[in-house]
Amino acid sequence: MVRGLDNEDSRRNIPAAKGPPAQPRAYNRDVPHVIESASSGRAKCRGCGRPIAMGELRFGERQPNAFGEGEMTLWFHLTCGAYARPVPFLEIAATAGDAAASLIPAAQFGVDHRRVPRIHGAERAPTGRARCRSCKELIAKDEWRIALVFFEEFRFEPGGFVHAGCAQPYFETIDILDRIRHFGLDLGAADIAELRKALRAVRTPAA
Ligand SMILES: [Zn+2]
Ligand SMILES: [Zn+2]
Repeated sequence: MVRGLDNEDSRRNIPAAKGPPAQPRAYNRDVPHVIESASSGRAKCRGCGRPIAMGELRFGERQPNAFGEGEMTLWFHLTCGAYARPVPFLEIAATAGDAAASLIPAAQFGVDHRRVPRIHGAERAPTGRARCRSCKELIAKDEWRIALVFFEEFRFEPGGFVHAGCAQPYFETIDILDRIRHFGLDLGAADIAELRKALRAVRTPAA
């Protein structure tokens, strides 16, 4: 597969961000990303949306400020950063202690399988109206589907779904249950067992 050329990666179907269009600005490499203990419990993780507890290790991705001059920091739980923002995470992980270093293989996996960082849990389709981003067919009600998010400028936007059985062609791996479980907190053991089966049953699109 040629990187960056597949039309599927375009921004269509994704609502435009509110406000004036952000001017593309380069990273200021004088302000590196950071991994540190959270100094309060107020920040929410950009990856999973849940709060980051005070004292918990967090990954801060520095970005040009979308609203004005200077820099802004996007905070993530350490694991969420490794899963969802592998490239900036890897820029700092090797020099940020054992907990960060232990997540390097997970982050590297997301670099090697470039669509894997889009994974944001899984669910049984509540309706039969969504189309799979891989095979383009409708996902039947109650079928297992994997939720996707796309990182746009400085936030994640909902990016649709793929059949669990389309994971192999779409992600080029089915070794993704750890991420699905991480972002799909409501999934129980029975759900995970069903998902494991659904991932292996590679779907054959209708001709
Ligand atoms: Zn998180
Ligand atoms: Zn599909």
